[in-house]
Amino acid sequence: MDKAWSMKTECVRMDLLDEDARSEALDRAGRIIREGGLVAFPTETVYGLGADAMNAQAAARIYEAKGRPSDNPLIVHIADFAEAEALSGDISPGVRKIMETFWPGPLTIILPKRPEVPDGTTGGLPTVAIRMPSHPLAAELIRKSGRMIAAPSANLSGRPSPTTADHVYEDMKGRIPMILDGGPVNIGIESTILDMTEEEPVILRPGYISPRDLSRVWGGQIHLDPAVASRTMKKDIKAKAPGMKYRHYAPKGRLTLFEGPSSAVTAAINALSAKDRKAGLRVGIIGTEETESLYKGDVVRAVGSRQHPETIAAGLYRILREMDDLNCASIYSESFYDEDLGEAIMNRLLKAAGYRHIKVKPGLGEEGFFIEETDVPGGAL
Ligand code: AMP
Ligand code: MG
Repeated sequence: MDKAWSMKTECVRMDLLDEDARSEALDRAGRIIREGGLVAFPTETVYGLGADAMNAQAAARIYEAKGRPSDNPLIVHIADFAEAEALSGDISPGVRKIMETFWPGPLTIILPKRPEVPDGTTGGLPTVAIRMPSHPLAAELIRKSGRMIAAPSANLSGRPSPTTADHVYEDMKGRIPMILDGGPVNIGIESTILDMTEEEPVILRPGYISPRDLSRVWGGQIHLDPAVASRTMKKDIKAKAPGMKYRHYAPKGRLTLFEGPSSAVTAAINALSAKDRKAGLRVGIIGTEETESLYKGDVVRAVGSRQHPETIAAGLYRILREMDDLNCASIYSESFYDEDLGEAIMNRLLKAAGYRHIKVKPGLGEEGFFIEETDVPGGAL
């Protein structure tokens, strides 16, 4: 039976507090963590739902509050390099160089775990995921609590990750005692996950730190788990990171992605939008600042600008949640294959769409496009 959630959830606007009140709020948050409770806090990637990483019971509360499958391990957040040593005894000079270059920052590193790290935190795996976030509130909370903090994204399992404290409140109200509101996050998609337990590093989840950034420092090849590479990603390839196999980031409406030259994409989305609206469906369209004015739907939004792909990453989850809030039953989106951030953005979007995507080409006919390739059952038209 589903648990009745009736806890009082306090949301603290940290930017409104003076130095003393801020410190007092962080003291209280730290105490909650030490006592085995949960606190949501901002990181530079998305909001996290934190608990004492070395306390199996506390970690179990995270799974309960999120409704998260228990085989999906948590990332342990640290504030000092020495803490990485407490989690893993296998930090080679190559791994250390990666840590020192990218930490604090949006990179999670998988290493063999020490026996003291509870199975409840690692989902029973012999490895542990470690990250040092750069957001000052995250670092302060870790230091004040005196604990390493296990934290997944602070959304209900399956929903888009939260990029504001309001998103966290929406999902976690009644389930956790405290949210530290640090305003909207900066990056907006989760950390790059790098598995360093094998001979050569493998990216298990693409993120803001790109394969190019990593190989420059590593000095050798960085592999991308084929199960998460946007061009080969399919429902039936098994991902190495347990969490990547779950439906994730999904809005409630049916999301379909379009790929191809901009004019063909616009024409195809408008054609499908018109068809759906005629059938009485409320249509949401996700374009960019460059294309927003060309679309006809019930809700049309620019997720960001193609001139600045980081704005697309930052706006993605907010837009998916907005499509839900505005009750869009059918959602059409452009694709975003940027060279650096494309893998990270398309990994989330393809999963959110349940892999529904349609490739289009410009066409000469009245409609202005034709379908080159689709994996949508029935062809969608
Ligand atoms: P979240 O923080 O909710 O975005 O999810 C954390 C991600 O890290 C999930 O996809 C997990 O499967 C992955 N992860 C955590 N620990 C490990 C590990 N030891 N090995 C592989 N993947 C991991
Ligand atoms: Mg998550």
